[in-house]
Amino acid sequence: MTTLESEARPKAPAFDKDALRRKYREERDKRLRADGNDQYIQIKDQLAHYLDDPYTPVVDRAPKTDHVTFAFIGGGFAGLVAGARLVEAGVTDVRIVEKGGDFGGTWYWNRYPGAQCDTASMIYMPLLEETGHRPTEKYAHAPEILAQCQRIGRQYNLYDNALFHTEVNALEWDDANTRWIVRTNRGDAFTAQFIGIGTGPLHVAKLPGIPGIERFKGHSFHTSRWDYGYTGGDPSGALMEKLADKRVGLIGTGATSVQCVPHLARACKELYVFQRTPSSVDVRANAPIDPDWFAEIATPGWQLRWLENFTDNQSGGFAAEDLVQDGWTDIARRIREKVMSLPPGEMTQANMLAAWEDADFEKMEEIRARCEALVDDPETAQKLKAWYRQLCKRPCFHDAYLQAFNEPGAHLVDTDGQGVSEITEDGVIVAGQHYPLDCIIYASGFEVGTEYKRRAGFDMVGRNGLKLSEAWGDGMRTLHGVHVHGFPNAFFAQPTQGANLISNVPHNLTDTARTIAAVVKHARDHGMTRVEVTQKAQDDWIELLLGGPPRLLGSPDCTPGYYNNEGKDPGPAVNLFVGYPAGPSAYFRFIEDWRRKGTFEGLAFEA
Ligand code: NDP
Repeated sequence: MTTLESEARPKAPAFDKDALRRKYREERDKRLRADGNDQYIQIKDQLAHYLDDPYTPVVDRAPKTDHVTFAFIGGGFAGLVAGARLVEAGVTDVRIVEKGGDFGGTWYWNRYPGAQCDTASMIYMPLLEETGHRPTEKYAHAPEILAQCQRIGRQYNLYDNALFHTEVNALEWDDANTRWIVRTNRGDAFTAQFIGIGTGPLHVAKLPGIPGIERFKGHSFHTSRWDYGYTGGDPSGALMEKLADKRVGLIGTGATSVQCVPHLARACKELYVFQRTPSSVDVRANAPIDPDWFAEIATPGWQLRWLENFTDNQSGGFAAEDLVQDGWTDIARRIREKVMSLPPGEMTQANMLAAWEDADFEKMEEIRARCEALVDDPETAQKLKAWYRQLCKRPCFHDAYLQAFNEPGAHLVDTDGQGVSEITEDGVIVAGQHYPLDCIIYASGFEVGTEYKRRAGFDMVGRNGLKLSEAWGDGMRTLHGVHVHGFPNAFFAQPTQGANLISNVPHNLTDTARTIAAVVKHARDHGMTRVEVTQKAQDDWIELLLGGPPRLLGSPDCTPGYYNNEGKDPGPAVNLFVGYPAGPSAYFRFIEDWRRKGTFEGLAFEA
């Protein structure tokens, strides 16, 4: 791969561990708040317009009342890859139901300037080998990822049966006829022998519950509904020329904000970035992918080799080489080196955790040193420093975010952990100071900790009227994260209780797609009409998971955010948000073996 000369990494200065621990605690404590997730407001009623699709007009169509073999809810990576594998397995009538106006899921909605993948394209973009697409950059930008989604849709004829701008609002198992009844907000009531659920974890935009939010008379939108009509420019990053005379406020400094701030800072007359908690922003080092290099490495099976290599490196395994070489594998390498440097007799759990903490302090000190190295104004540089462990919040990587605050019109308004206190008709108030604005852009993220059925828009009703919200009343229960007892012929495509590989979610999804296609093919080849996980297999799996290590993300010691339920005790159900005890690589090997055996242990098939 052609590699751009990466910036020199500032060395971590000497540090006092106790002082850092104290600082982390103080910074967390000042952000803790009693309302947790309820500080955000659901987008509905008079705010519903924030969810309107600015990209594709909604087209009238007749409701569907037919039958398909497989219906998949969600047209993002999960649905596309499952659809592709099902087509390969001979199922030609796959119907994907998607609330957006095209395929892409998160990449359909998130077209904000600067959007790009944070995990390397070679492993992040699905089905590269099958479609023959060569990523143009180490970290592809959003339009290229959206185009890949559309390419998959075309190549596997998934457009023919797809329903866009359609939201499922009821999903019910019809036991007598061995099929699911799918109802939608477009009046559809069709049936499907099998269903897949791939609605993703971050698809319901949310707004901060700042008093006065509905009073603002200027222009405003959420980053996942970027209004290029107002800003000018386009998703490829063209200058947003219409902002040249505008005072723009951006609320939020998470992964989305980090990517769009450089573009806004260049375009706006004045940009005010309202910060409650700084993100950790490490080196990105994006680079074009050299076609000659790619031609050399892209030998049959290359993408799976890369996926497995990344997963080995990133999740604590040992691989002879690091093909991807990015911020994620760097985190893992540093922890591994520290742990391995312990003398053999001192490899206790406590020492290993201390070694991990040491690696984290070093890494975060380097990231904090970057702020001083790249930001001209020393006070702004201080305010951009993140005071928590790297995995407390979503780690960010960018080579232009910090420097954007050197632009003459770009202002960081740090709220000392308290957030914007009020929105007025013509601006916002922070710590008693009024900032007049023409436009407010909400980079305020997506619902994570809210109830599953609120985010999905439906509560699945399985065998004997069992609702999913009841089946999971005291926590999620599955076999492999895919099959749920009481819900025949249904498949869940998501990482939890499977590999749980958070650093590269598509790897989980592409693997689950293989499982879905293998099980459906087996059923059809053997004249079976229904398949369901047995209670025992599900219970055994849950017992295995609960015997494993606790979850990696979401420590209550962390600064609040969606990783740790905004700092509030999420209750015992959270203990089920774990993956295979031996780790993601071991899970992928285990499940490949499970599929290859062809007996699909734990599933009961019926004619
Ligand atoms: P986040 O939920 O990460 O960020 C929301 C931001 O809004 C936070 O900075 C939050 O502050 C801030 N906020 C909330 N309320 C207020 C307030 N009252 N005043 C000021 N600020 C406030 O959303 P994002 O859209 O940035 O990211 C969501 C997730 O999407 C990411 O974590 C990532 O998983 C994914 N993503 C992935 C990308 C990729 O892979 N390329 C790119 C972008 C996003 P605080 O931190 O204090 O809560």
